[in-house]
Amino acid sequence: MSDVVSSDVLVIGSGIAGLSFSLNIPETYTVTVVTKTSILETATNRAQGGIAAVISDKDSVASHIEDTIRVGAGLCHPKVVESIVKSGPKRIEELVRLGVEFCREEGCDDFDLGLEGGHTNRRVLHVKDHTGADIQRALVEQIRKRSNVTVYENHSAVNLYMSNDCVMGAYVLDKETKTVKRFPSKVTVLATGGAGRVFLYTSNPDVATGDGIAMAYRAGASITNLEFIQFHPTLLYHSKIRSFLISEALRGEGAVLLGPDGKRFMDAYHPDAELAPRDVVARAIDSELKRTGANFVHLDISFKDADFIKDRFPAIYSTCLNAGIDITQEPIPVVPGVHYVCGGVKTDINGKTDVRGLYAIGECAGTGFHGANRLASNSLLEGVVMAHNTAAAVSDDLQRGIEVHSMPPWDPGEATDPDELVVISHMWDEVRRLMVNYVGIVRTNKRLIRARNRIGFLAREIESFYWDFIITPDLIELRNIATVAELIIKMARMRKESRGAHYNRDYPEPSKAAVDTVMKKGYISVDEE
Ligand SMILES: Cc1cc2nc3c(=O)[nH]c(=O)nc-3n(C[C@H](O)[C@H](O)[C@H](O)COP(=O)(O)OP(=O)(O)OC[C@H]3O[C@@H](n4cnc5c(N)ncnc54)[C@H](O)[C@@H]3O)c2cc1C
Repeated sequence: MSDVVSSDVLVIGSGIAGLSFSLNIPETYTVTVVTKTSILETATNRAQGGIAAVISDKDSVASHIEDTIRVGAGLCHPKVVESIVKSGPKRIEELVRLGVEFCREEGCDDFDLGLEGGHTNRRVLHVKDHTGADIQRALVEQIRKRSNVTVYENHSAVNLYMSNDCVMGAYVLDKETKTVKRFPSKVTVLATGGAGRVFLYTSNPDVATGDGIAMAYRAGASITNLEFIQFHPTLLYHSKIRSFLISEALRGEGAVLLGPDGKRFMDAYHPDAELAPRDVVARAIDSELKRTGANFVHLDISFKDADFIKDRFPAIYSTCLNAGIDITQEPIPVVPGVHYVCGGVKTDINGKTDVRGLYAIGECAGTGFHGANRLASNSLLEGVVMAHNTAAAVSDDLQRGIEVHSMPPWDPGEATDPDELVVISHMWDEVRRLMVNYVGIVRTNKRLIRARNRIGFLAREIESFYWDFIITPDLIELRNIATVAELIIKMARMRKESRGAHYNRDYPEPSKAAVDTVMKKGYISVDEE
């Protein structure tokens, strides 16, 4: 393969956002998709619960909008919410046409709609408990049929290439040949997913290191709402199986949370008990763990019919069984962990960032849809809708004609092989541990200041490593998690209130002034501290 790969559109990421986007670009334009490892290694592939959309006659667009805005705790952009929710049913039809086999009710053609926390109606389409894997499978099958789309696996984008203040492609590390190649393009789309690995405990796959957010930030794009990190209340607590999520859908089907004394505790925290929004449930568990000194709480669905459990949650049933837990007979040990970044690279409803030539979609983007907290199953929805909108906008751009600038070769400078690679893994651990310790579910001013001081020192050290030594995938990701950690801390310090997924014990209440500022401007940019 040559060290220059030119195309009309460069897409970084192969999840629901990147692949749906690519499928919506007319075949007259060339599309290159780069993805860090295998095309299947995405958060999309792990999604269990499903995708929210208004499908049932008993449901309404108004109710889905209302639920999204209520859970978003005052920071959703109402027009964005309306637009995405309204587009939902059409995008679901499209996914079905592409081959996604959402479950239907027995004996009829109606979709079997699940209920999840924060939703007032059954509207979650699902494929048993492996919805994301089926969506990923269908999209990959379709992508393989497209002659205008080329996918490069094991290719990690290092940095965006800028010319005349416009993004014109990216430098990409080919992990097999260990060389940095040029991928010039007329338009570049970030679809790099989340940043869960900035924290030590996460449901996210290994590829979720916030690369898109960090690259966009370095290119001068505005970043928004990163302080709103959603913790999923229920990751499996197990010494060997890490990052395995126990879907919210279990609670939707009646599963209850039990403290170390075997008693339910959620009633004391919220009128909706186990079906309260995620941040409330995660904080309640955190508080129970701190109060009792236990390492985990239990989630119990064993009182339901065993055949129902095995049929509705086959992946969770078999993973737990492999871990020695029969969920039809006993409760599941669970802890909260980082699950989702509600903010990201600021975009409009067409995925446009404020840097020319650069678009962002999916979890790495901050459209304002989720506000301060994401409603369950709304992220796959946002990913597929935004991919569609953005493909239309990008196609318009391409039709108007864009000049491509030549891209100079990657300049490694004086970089040498690192003398001690182990330092990189130490720094990985330091960043992730400090984020979990000081920027976790419950924050305080003191903890955030501590985090800022430590990350400042670490980020400088990592930056000099990056410039002095030949880059490796680990080093690229380390630099990105440090950047994203810095941004999260900075934004968390700026928000002098508690709201949605951000809770600061020193400002336990929401502040009206903060909402007014954000709603007037539409976003908070990092450069404004
Ligand atoms: C365990 C789990 C369960 C979930 N369940 C649900 C659910 O039921 N419903 C719901 O709506 N949401 C759910 N979510 C959230 C949802 O899955 C994600 O928000 C969504 O799939 C993100 O899609 P995406 O296309 O933006 O990113 P992803 O699907 O994560 O894809 C990101 C892609 O970017 C690539 N990439 C990243 N950096 C680079 C780089 N530097 N160079 C090249 N490639 C790069 C990765 O390799 C990957 O291919 C869940 C998430 C997890 C982790």
